[in-house]
Amino acid sequence: MSARMKRKVGAGKVAVIEPSENHYYQPLWTLVGAGAKAVSTSRRSTASLIPSGVKWIKSQVQEFNPDKNCVRTDDGKEISYEYLIVALGLKLHYEKNHYYQPLWTLVGAGAKTVSTSRRSTASLIPSGVKWIKSQVQEFNPDKNCVRTDDGKEISYEYLIVALGLKLHYEKIKGLPEGFNYPKIGSNYSVETVDKTWKALQDFKEGNAIFTFPNTPVKCAGAPQKIMYLADSYFRKTGKRSKANIMYNTSLPVLFGIKKYADSLWNIVKTRDLNVNLRHNLIEVRPDKQEAVFEKLDNPGETVVFEYEMLHVTPPMGPHEVLKKSTLVDEAGWLDIDKDMLQHKKYPNVFGIGDCTNLPTAKTAAAVAAQSSVLDRTISRVMKNEKPDKRYDGYTSCPLVTSYNTVILAEFDYNGQPLETFPIDQSKERMSMFYMKADVMPHLYWHGLLKGFWGGPAPYRKIMHLGMK
Ligand SMILES: Cc1cc2nc3c(=O)[nH]c(=O)nc-3n(C[C@H](O)[C@H](O)[C@H](O)COP(=O)(O)OP(=O)(O)OC[C@H]3O[C@@H](n4cnc5c(N)ncnc54)[C@H](O)[C@@H]3O)c2cc1C
Repeated sequence: MSARMKRKVGAGKVAVIEPSENHYYQPLWTLVGAGAKAVSTSRRSTASLIPSGVKWIKSQVQEFNPDKNCVRTDDGKEISYEYLIVALGLKLHYEKNHYYQPLWTLVGAGAKTVSTSRRSTASLIPSGVKWIKSQVQEFNPDKNCVRTDDGKEISYEYLIVALGLKLHYEKIKGLPEGFNYPKIGSNYSVETVDKTWKALQDFKEGNAIFTFPNTPVKCAGAPQKIMYLADSYFRKTGKRSKANIMYNTSLPVLFGIKKYADSLWNIVKTRDLNVNLRHNLIEVRPDKQEAVFEKLDNPGETVVFEYEMLHVTPPMGPHEVLKKSTLVDEAGWLDIDKDMLQHKKYPNVFGIGDCTNLPTAKTAAAVAAQSSVLDRTISRVMKNEKPDKRYDGYTSCPLVTSYNTVILAEFDYNGQPLETFPIDQSKERMSMFYMKADVMPHLYWHGLLKGFWGGPAPYRKIMHLGMK
């Protein structure tokens, strides 16, 4: 209609309110679902479809006010225009889902499907527990309540904050729109993980680049795991000699724990993988297949690489709702005691997982170990007793190094290996791959989410005959 209205009254008088960056030709999804077309063929960027000269207002309408010829948008603006087009369509009420994100490393490499990482949230909420299907918009710990996006105030006696973290693709120039082009993927989002697998399959000849951003991340091993899988895939499909594989990381090291880093350096050398330390991705030019990196040790200096495949690990940070609350430290993470997981200022608030400022690597394995400590801490606080169980910072990263090998890194707050098995876990092992691909998902769905799995500490003791 905007094209028709432009022809009728001139572009200057017409505006379109549309929040989405992409527009889809939905009828094609019948064929996409049957594998006859790719989703990307049904997608165009909204920018390319708005007629030139017509104003595009990238917001959501929150309120219609036809008596005053205006609408109010989600950023609080009142908009009036001579001819305004708002074409809302209809709403699909999908069931909300929860994902076992660690599996996405294997999904991006074509070894698992997204659907195996998904369960409906409804099936995971313990029976009898109330599920409030809203987003928290504001924390008010001084009044013991939160406000949700539907404007309700919900009060609590005890609050456990487990918000996870926010992915910031938009902090890289050219993204997220760049994902509309082929050759780019990211295992970090359910929206883009399949694009990694597509980019791997479509690879012909050139640079395959894998990035690590200049922020804290969840699963610090995942940005390089997909590189090892790509290397294996190219070898399997006879393309390895045509691929120049690069790992461009903001960090000054390949991995934070020396024992495992030494093994990984060995692997990158023997497999001819190029590691560029202190290189931070700042721009993607998907039309030219170029990626721009800043050299963190030479401020102001950048380097441009052409790519045939690009895997992006986005910058990450705390959610805005948390950052603007009184619950956080200077960096915006939930400010809790590193031993007991209780909030430093509000004793009836607790935290777990990626949203916290616990000085350990952010992983699901860490969440499991934290869950048993938090269980104990809360039980004691409820009885007016002092918490007594301490979290040692246990975290784990199964470093997938091929389609059948893993180095199982496990360590604590001090960066000291805290290994479950009485073998050298810095070696690549097939047994650890099956642990990662098949055993850990079960532990997650049937152990951690049911409140039975609190990390491997008791088994570590047994395996080491009580010595660890
Ligand atoms: C590619 C990849 C590979 C990984 N590999 C591993 C691995 O091998 N091993 C490992 O242990 N870990 C791995 N991880 C990390 C692991 O998945 C995370 O550390 C873990 O899921 C963190 O759990 P969480 O509960 O803190 O956050 P999440 O699982 O992200 O959950 C946060 C929840 O908060 C909800 N939420 C957000 N905002 C609001 C709001 N305003 N109001 C209400 N609810 C809100 C979200 O909907 C979500 O349900 C990997 C992650 C990725 C992406």
